[in-house]
Amino acid sequence: MTTPSTAFIGLGSNLGNPLQQLHQALEALHQLAHTTLTDTSPIYRSAPVGPQDQPKFLNMAARLDTRLTPLELLDRLLEIEDLQGRVRHQTWGPRVIDLDILLFGEESVDHERLQIPHAELPNRDFVLRPLLDLEPELRLPDGRRLDLLLAACPCNNLERLEDA
Ligand code: ADP
Ligand code: MG
Repeated sequence: MTTPSTAFIGLGSNLGNPLQQLHQALEALHQLAHTTLTDTSPIYRSAPVGPQDQPKFLNMAARLDTRLTPLELLDRLLEIEDLQGRVRHQTWGPRVIDLDILLFGEESVDHERLQIPHAELPNRDFVLRPLLDLEPELRLPDGRRLDLLLAACPCNNLERLEDA
């Protein structure tokens, strides 16, 4: 058995009771084979990127230890999105659940179906903020510090939800 890798998943939702969608997706991550859900970030409310005529998003991040490969993990995430009834209409449009692989150990992946680190990670405070809540010292595989990326990134008026 190979040693597990630490992966970070970004979760987002702005349709169909977003808080419940996040919790349902976390439960599905908790159930994933060959994988342990090791931590979850606070939840943030953010203004949408792209089309503005859609509800605000709830975003958070989760940390996993997994023996799946990056592509196996992607396929499991797409299955969870499908199970929760995600329909893809519009780029950056509204969605019941979006599950993205943000980081996967120190790996960089450039595959037709998968880019790691996630391509938009450096530009999105609603991804960087919860990642830094989980690991303040986190860096990209190229060594760039996430706290410095957050300081430089366009602000999306993040609101942290009160801890339940
Ligand atoms: P987005 O998250 O950019 O709004 P989608 O969730 O609709 O877009 O994803 C479309 C495709 O993005 C997925 O089917 C997947 O193949 C691809 N993709 C590329 N890199 C990643 C990644 N790091 N995590 C998740 N999906 C990714
Ligand atoms: Mg996605």
